[in-house]
Amino acid sequence: MYRSFADIRTALSQGSTTVASLVQHYIDVVAQRNGELNAFLETYNEEALQQAHQIDQKIADGRAGRLAGMVIGLKDVICYQNHRLQAASRILDGFHSQFSATVVERLLAEDAIILGRQNCDEFAMGSSSENSAFGAVRNAADINRVPGGSSGGSAVAVQAHMCTASLGTDTGGSVRQPASFCGLVGVKPTYGRLSRHGLLAYASSFDCIGTLTHTVEDAALLLEVMAGADNFDSTASTQPVTPYSKQVEEQPKRGKVAYIRETVESEGVSSEVKEHILRAIEMLRSEGFTVEAVDFPLLEYILPTYYILTTAEASTNLARYDGVRYGYRSPRATDLESLYKLTRSEAFGKEVQRRILLGTFVLSASYYDAYFTKAQRVRRLIMEKTKAILAEYDFILSPTSPTTAFRVGELSDNPLQMYLADIFSVQANVAGIPAISIPCGNDTEGMSIGLQVMGNFFEEAKMLAFARFLMEKCAN
Ligand code: GLN
Repeated sequence: MYRSFADIRTALSQGSTTVASLVQHYIDVVAQRNGELNAFLETYNEEALQQAHQIDQKIADGRAGRLAGMVIGLKDVICYQNHRLQAASRILDGFHSQFSATVVERLLAEDAIILGRQNCDEFAMGSSSENSAFGAVRNAADINRVPGGSSGGSAVAVQAHMCTASLGTDTGGSVRQPASFCGLVGVKPTYGRLSRHGLLAYASSFDCIGTLTHTVEDAALLLEVMAGADNFDSTASTQPVTPYSKQVEEQPKRGKVAYIRETVESEGVSSEVKEHILRAIEMLRSEGFTVEAVDFPLLEYILPTYYILTTAEASTNLARYDGVRYGYRSPRATDLESLYKLTRSEAFGKEVQRRILLGTFVLSASYYDAYFTKAQRVRRLIMEKTKAILAEYDFILSPTSPTTAFRVGELSDNPLQMYLADIFSVQANVAGIPAISIPCGNDTEGMSIGLQVMGNFFEEAKMLAFARFLMEKCAN
């Protein structure tokens, strides 16, 4: 069992394993554990083994790429050419990707292997990975708990050592919150740092592809390989990509760190989570950092802003799934209108339907200004206020989530309570800045606690180096 890609690389260079035996090992773990964990929807065993043999040959010839030996799972919203894709939804029954996402192309070009596609909340809407047409994902640390969401399958697959790393997506916390619940490192880069070409859109002005790994170093390497401009996505930034995998090793400068007062003082945050965050703050002070509390009076507006804007964007993005061109089509339809209605009512789950309705409402002519326009203005204020903090401080710290992993079924009938699971993670998406969740200990029931670090726009390198340092110190 290898925890990190660095371990795999060492084993490969010493000849103590081969890529083929590594892939076979992951396939065996999936066979043993996936029945109860429900993390992978599908694996491509034959194909992955065949690629592994080719990569072993490349290693022998000295022409292997930088990710030779990296075995990756994809959340079921990221295209992989000629493989099925369905956003854990019936509406995409039978759909196959016609091309690969840009990020996938870049991973493959460096000899990573894609092992399979992973379960998630339908169309990435959720915080527990229970909203899937294929059943809930279970946390490998305790199968009665959720893994978080929406990238829950991607998190559990790494947690249970079914693959080396996963790609998830983070629109409001869906990489960081499951990372926090599963004891992993989850990175949401700056909006636009990674191309979204080949990602099924949920809320286009928030969506980011991100990584789930055991170590910050692995995340840095994956980001370095995937990041950069893309002709297929005009929102992908042309800012140069720096060598994150080297920069992550640097010692962070003893600068200024802010934490948002409400995130450690508020009632809703579990006492054990608070305790661990305060301990991390103390540790940073003793290491020579200046750590100060700042107020963020807009905190209570973040979730409403997020839910107005994301449901609006989702209602338009999901309009294309209508049963006409691809995916599920209701067999009961008798004319065009009933085809649309029945197809969408039968094949979208409850949460997706709720959001399409909400989004349609906030975009309707008579409410547009009252909701959508206003939420856009508030988004701007949140962004400006966040920027102002980051002009004075290097990073903003908070818990990733107010609690550790909750029980399966505990919040599934309470959408508002479920939305609160993202109270600390959505700020980074509303503002567009990068953020990372790292493990910082366990609660008394053995469930992991996540610490979130937010950084300034395109300062991934600085954020990753700080997070690596912090994670090492938290482990001691
Ligand atoms: N839980 C949040 C939501 O349901 C975040 C989802 C995400 O980041 N994809 O919208």
